[in-house]
Amino acid sequence: FNYQQATFLTSAPDIKALPADTGIEVAFAGRSNAGKSSALNTLTRQNSLARTSKTPGRTQLINTFVFAEDKRLIDLPGYGFAKVPLAVKEKWQKSLSEYLEKRQSLQGLVVLMDIRHPLKDLDQQLVHWAVQSQLPVLILLTKADKLGPGARKKTLLEVREASLAFMGDVTVHMFSSLTKIGMTEFEQTLDNWFST
Ligand code: GDP
Repeated sequence: FNYQQATFLTSAPDIKALPADTGIEVAFAGRSNAGKSSALNTLTRQNSLARTSKTPGRTQLINTFVFAEDKRLIDLPGYGFAKVPLAVKEKWQKSLSEYLEKRQSLQGLVVLMDIRHPLKDLDQQLVHWAVQSQLPVLILLTKADKLGPGARKKTLLEVREASLAFMGDVTVHMFSSLTKIGMTEFEQTLDNWFST
């Protein structure tokens, strides 16, 4: 698919305000600073399609992009800010798990994790919910350029091994928006999901 064609569709304050639940969409999630915006920008070959909110606790929007008829990329708010009130976190988690469970057009979830800090609690929770909802998951170990070839391969194998415990369709690849390592695997997985 021509992800370069992606254009901004909507910013939704919550799941209820997302575009109509038709066609196919793939959602992107990750801890703040995991490299989600950079991965989306790399995928779409656009420098500023996805922007980061550098302000912890700020109300975060769900940004949606469309690249073909009824084919969307969903940029979920980054999680893991220590300063966000517990009630806000709980509300977000509830609506996110509902989204994964009920959204008909959702065909897969990409979870981005910094290769130096993979599989934190919330990452695992998210993968677990997706698997429970029968959704395939792509774990992208981002910023792979930050490790040497041996170290990143070792982490990749460790995360793959750990991911067997999810007992679902969970694929793990490394990725770097800087060197484009893993770009082919990333695009192939998305192409697959958008073809179903
Ligand atoms: P987000 O909060 O998940 O959207 O993360 P960003 O995409 O904004 O990235 C967070 C920080 O990590 C920024 O300073 C990026 O420049 C940096 N970053 C993102 N991807 C990479 C990468 O592949 N390699 C390196 N070295 N830095 C990256």
